[in-house]
Amino acid sequence: MKIQNVYQIARYRLCTGCGACMYACPEEKVRLIDIINDGIRPVIDNGECNFCGRCLTICPGIETIRPETTSSADGIPDLKKRWGTVLEIWEGYAADPNIRFKGSSGGLCTALSLYSLEKGHAGGVLHVGADHEHPWKNKTHLSMTKEDLLERTGSRYSPASPCDGLGKITMVSEPSIFVGKPCDVAGLRKAQVISSELNEKIGLAIGFFCAGTPSTLGTLNLLRNHKINPGKIANLRYRGMGWPGMATVQLKDEDEPSVKMTYKDSWGFVQKYRPFRCYLCPDLTAEFADISVGDPWYREMSEDEQGRSIILIRTERGRRLFHEAMNSGYVTASEVNPEILYKSQKNLLGKRQKIWGRILAMKMLGLPYPRLEGFHLFDNWLDLPFKEKVTSILGTARRIIRRNYFKPLDYSNITSYKDIPTNPPSTGSKNCLQKTN
Ligand SMILES: Cc1cc2nc3c(=O)[nH]c(=O)nc-3n(C[C@H](O)[C@H](O)[C@H](O)COP(=O)(O)OP(=O)(O)OC[C@H]3O[C@@H](n4cnc5c(N)ncnc54)[C@H](O)[C@@H]3O)c2cc1C
Repeated sequence: MKIQNVYQIARYRLCTGCGACMYACPEEKVRLIDIINDGIRPVIDNGECNFCGRCLTICPGIETIRPETTSSADGIPDLKKRWGTVLEIWEGYAADPNIRFKGSSGGLCTALSLYSLEKGHAGGVLHVGADHEHPWKNKTHLSMTKEDLLERTGSRYSPASPCDGLGKITMVSEPSIFVGKPCDVAGLRKAQVISSELNEKIGLAIGFFCAGTPSTLGTLNLLRNHKINPGKIANLRYRGMGWPGMATVQLKDEDEPSVKMTYKDSWGFVQKYRPFRCYLCPDLTAEFADISVGDPWYREMSEDEQGRSIILIRTERGRRLFHEAMNSGYVTASEVNPEILYKSQKNLLGKRQKIWGRILAMKMLGLPYPRLEGFHLFDNWLDLPFKEKVTSILGTARRIIRRNYFKPLDYSNITSYKDIPTNPPSTGSKNCLQKTN
C-alpha cells in the first residue's frame, strides 16, 4: 500500500494527531476531526487531494528522524541512547506560587512561557487549553497574557493538536513559544523545515513527557461512570491544583467541583484508551524540544506536597532561556543527578525499549509502519529481558490480528457531526467511528 496523503496515514492508524498537516496543506483541504475512540485525525475536504505530498513531508506519524549529533554538544553521554540529547538536568518549580499550584507538576511550562512573554522574548504562546463550549475537549490558543496562561495550565489527558494553530504564530510580529507533547514538537520541527516564515517565528519549543494521549472516549466513559452528562459541564481538569492534584468536574449550576478523582483513578482509567499509534512512539520525553519537562516520580510524595518538575535542557537556546528565567526569579531549580530520570520514568523507558519489537511485528504482518530513526531502537530492545523481547513482538502481532488492524479505518463518508453524546458508546466499541464536534 503506497501512502499518498495524511488521510491514508490516519486510516492505517499511524497519525499522532499533532495537526501540522492542516497548516501545511497548500490547498487548505485538510480538516481535523475528533474520532471519538482514536484521536484528532485529518480528513481531506470532499476527498479533493491533488497528492502534492506536502502533508507527508511534515507528518511525524509516518516518519520521525532524529539527526545523529557527534559533537561535544551531544550532552550527558549516559542519557543519550535512552532519552536523547540532554545538556543539563534540573529539578524545580515555578517561583510564582499560584502557577506552581495550578500547574501539572511544577508549573514549569507556564513559568517559562510567562518569563518569555513578560521579558519581551516572545509575542505569544501557542498551546492548548479546554474548549469552553465542550470542556471535555481541547482547543489551540495563542496566549498573550498571564491570565491566558494561567487558564491553560495543567495536563489535558485527551486529544489536542497544537500544530493546527501554527498559522496564528506567523501572524504575530515577534517569535512565539510553542508548548506540546513530543509528537507535537516533532510536527512543529518538520513544519519549520518547509516554512522559513514559521521557522523565524518560533522562539522556543517546550515539550513535556508523554506516555500517550487517551481518546475522547476515555474521558466520556469516565464521566459516564460518575453519571455526569457532558453537556452540563462548566469546567473539567485532569490534574494540577496541587501535585499531582485531583481530576475535577464542575457542573454549570455549581460553585464547587462536584466530582473529584485522584490522579491514580482518573489517569489509571483513561490511559486504557490510548490509541495504537501511541504504542509505537519512541519519543517519550520530547527530544525535539529546546526544553522538556516531566514529573519527578522518583520518590514517594507526601499528601500536601507542592509540585515539582524534572527539566531537561536539550539545546543551547533552551539553556539560555532557562538560566535567564532562573536568574530573573521566574523559576526555582537545582541541578540533579541524571539517575533521577531513570528512577522517575521507568514506564517510559520500558515503552521505548519495546518499539523495535512492535515495529518488527508490523513489518512481518505486512502493515504500513512508521519510519523511526536516530532513537537507538534496536539497542534499546536488546537491553530488554528475553520474555519482554518476545512479548513486544508477539503481543503486538496478537493485538493486530485480534483487532483486525489490517482493515484500514474508513471515516470518509461521515459528514455530519454528532452533538454531545449523552449516552457515550461503551468501552467495547473498538471500531466505533462516531465523532464529536
Ligand atoms: C497525555 C499526556 C501524557 C503525559 N504523560 C506523562 C508521563 O508519562 N510522565 C510524565 O512525567 N509526564 C507526563 N505528562 C506531562 C505532565 O503531566 C506535565 O504536563 C508536565 O510535567 C508539565 O507540567 P508543568 O507543570 O510544567 O505544566 P503546566 O505549567 O501545567 O503547563 C501545561 C502545558 O501543557 C499544555 N498541554 C496540556 N495538555 C496538553 C495536551 N494534551 N497536548 C498538548 N499540550 C497540552 C498546556 O497547554 C500547558 O501549556 C503527560 C501529559 C499529557 C498531556
